[in-house]
Amino acid sequence: MAILVVGAGFAGTVLAERAAFAGKQVVVLDRRTHIAGNAYDHPDEHGVLVHRYGPHIFHTNAPHVADYLSRFTAWRDYEHRVLASVEGELYPIPINRITINRLYGMNLSEEEAAAYLDKVREPRDPIRTSEDVVLSSVGRDLCDKFFRNYTRKQWGMDLSELAALVAARIPTRSNDDDRYFTDSFQKMPRDGFTRMFQNMLDHPNIRVELGTDFKEVDRSHFEHIFYSGPIDEYFDHRFGKLPYRSLSFQHEHLQDQQQFQPVGTVNYPNDFAFTRITEFKHLTGQTHTGTSIVREYPQAEGDPYYPVPSEQNQQLYKQYQALADAETSTTFVGRLAQYRYLNMDQVVAQALVVAERHGLGSVREPEP
Ligand code: FAD
Ligand code: UDP
Repeated sequence: MAILVVGAGFAGTVLAERAAFAGKQVVVLDRRTHIAGNAYDHPDEHGVLVHRYGPHIFHTNAPHVADYLSRFTAWRDYEHRVLASVEGELYPIPINRITINRLYGMNLSEEEAAAYLDKVREPRDPIRTSEDVVLSSVGRDLCDKFFRNYTRKQWGMDLSELAALVAARIPTRSNDDDRYFTDSFQKMPRDGFTRMFQNMLDHPNIRVELGTDFKEVDRSHFEHIFYSGPIDEYFDHRFGKLPYRSLSFQHEHLQDQQQFQPVGTVNYPNDFAFTRITEFKHLTGQTHTGTSIVREYPQAEGDPYYPVPSEQNQQLYKQYQALADAETSTTFVGRLAQYRYLNMDQVVAQALVVAERHGLGSVREPEP
């Protein structure tokens, strides 16, 4: 009997590839009409490679994840940089020495910037919420200028209602490092994410069925299911709906304009209904006479993009997790199935662990 994989994003595609490599027959379903999940990229009507579901930048500290994906793509070096627009000026985010000096008209050295942060921070103990994280690292003024309103826009909640892990994604620096990520491996798939996924799924044992919902399929035909859709949907929302934050992506092409903004992403914490604008050519290195950008408008309804990390939601998730644990013929994997705010590399790492646990081989062993 074959294996069924629900979802052709990172979680599903890694499991499909591993299962096929181990000699299994695999059917991959996705209700969307394309592979690659939220990492899907494609040339827009002007020929600029864009990410349909918002900017995806690959970064990892896990050599085995980078090595595994390198079987399916070549890479281009790319270090993401983000500026935040505050009171009409652009400042590096994560907050660093340059942010502080420029914002307050100072000329602090690295040591002085560290001392300044020590002076303004409001230590909190214990650190439970995202507000605790931000106040204890940068204090109230920087929190209000860079974090509070962005967070309200993005999540529809106050920093104090969100789990610490959300704001903890953003470090604070007293040096001049203006990279968004500091991972040892920061590269973009040279020919795009979708091409990498095509290469992963290009195996005689794998059949991909797009535009097909799991609900339409007879499960009894399969020996095992790897499910990467929303966990609450799998159980027909038995305990109520898990909240997901959604986004509306407004794509725009600007003709005869080589560049729109100086870096890949500019955040707008306090102005406009969108959170950020990303210009794709920075990410992809593409040359083109025009340029394409996307604005992200957060919303409650729509496709589930972000599990909302709060104590209350975690309790609800735990009820679903108990049902999932009892389900021996289905394994739940990925950002929606595990209701966790995971980056792409973390999803790949987890899918590889799941594959190994199911006897589908280990990527740590050399393979032919
Ligand atoms: P998904 O990519 O969501 O794939 C799940 C798939 O399952 C979907 O294609 C869906 O259509 C399908 N599916 C669901 N239910 C069913 C069903 N019932 N039947 C059939 N198919 C179904 N991560 C980074 O590392 N770097 C970034 O820069 C980054 N930027 C991001 C920006 C945005 C705006 C968002 C939303 C996420 C970002 N991420 C980033 C996170 C990244 O998107 C996820 O880690 C990754 O896509 C998760 O992969 P997945 O396979 O778990 O889920
Ligand atoms: N954040 C913020 N201001 C910023 C950038 C981030 O307040 O300029 C907060 C916000 O709550 C956001 C979280 O930090 O949701 C994580 O940011 P990240 O850029 O990692 O979010 P993602 O890329 O996953 O949307």
